[in-house]
Amino acid sequence: MDETLKNIISSLGGREIGIDGTFKFHCTCCGKCCINREDILLNPRDVYNMSRELGMSPEKLVKKYCEVYAGEDSRVPIVRVKPKGHVKRCPLLKDRKCMVHKSKPSVCALFPIGRVLQVGDTEGNIKDISVEDVQYIFSSPGCGDNAESHTVREWLGHCGIPIEDEFFIKWQKVIMETSIIFRKMEKKFRPQVMELAWTAAFVVLYLHYDTGEGFMPQFEENAQSFQGLLHKIQKD
Ligand code: SF4
Ligand code: SF4
Repeated sequence: MDETLKNIISSLGGREIGIDGTFKFHCTCCGKCCINREDILLNPRDVYNMSRELGMSPEKLVKKYCEVYAGEDSRVPIVRVKPKGHVKRCPLLKDRKCMVHKSKPSVCALFPIGRVLQVGDTEGNIKDISVEDVQYIFSSPGCGDNAESHTVREWLGHCGIPIEDEFFIKWQKVIMETSIIFRKMEKKFRPQVMELAWTAAFVVLYLHYDTGEGFMPQFEENAQSFQGLLHKIQKD
């Protein structure tokens, strides 16, 4: 594992764990992980799954429960569940239950396991990546008890997240490529042009889905058309 990545993981108090590595954790359903939360970031698949479960469009879901901003370093659109009130309660917590229990955001479903994937090399070039490059992190959650022992493989299965998660890999690549292009474009284009490109990224990558149709083919089509647009702007 790359040294920078190792340092980030250790600063987060986590440890790398293999797909068949074990960790001890048992959720006691206290509900505390749904309050005091400001870190629930959604990817396009989360937005699609949650919209479908709630029977609303991705646009309405984001408008009602999220906020969208440009990543400070990456410049790409970030969609975050917007916490409510002084206790920073997740707006999807209703009567002490998650309103999207069957389609929880990946970060909620995987907790206390996290996934990382190093997409770029030290020069910022996109590497050829595959499922074997996905690394798993276990961070001591500070909640529940240690009454159960799990493997990462079993935990992912229980969360409904595929081990060979084609979307996760493609999404990391799209973010990295978009971030590199956006940072190059910022040096050449007026802020108004950048605003348009950023809005296109948000709308095409996160919102442009019919929840009555499958997710992955739509994501691939959206990512391809957005990247085609970026390359065209760069050439012009
Ligand atoms: S989305 Fe559901 S599980 Fe995640 S913090 Fe909100 S209520 Fe809790
Ligand atoms: S994951 Fe932890 S904080 Fe969340 S409900 Fe379970 S025990 Fe409580």
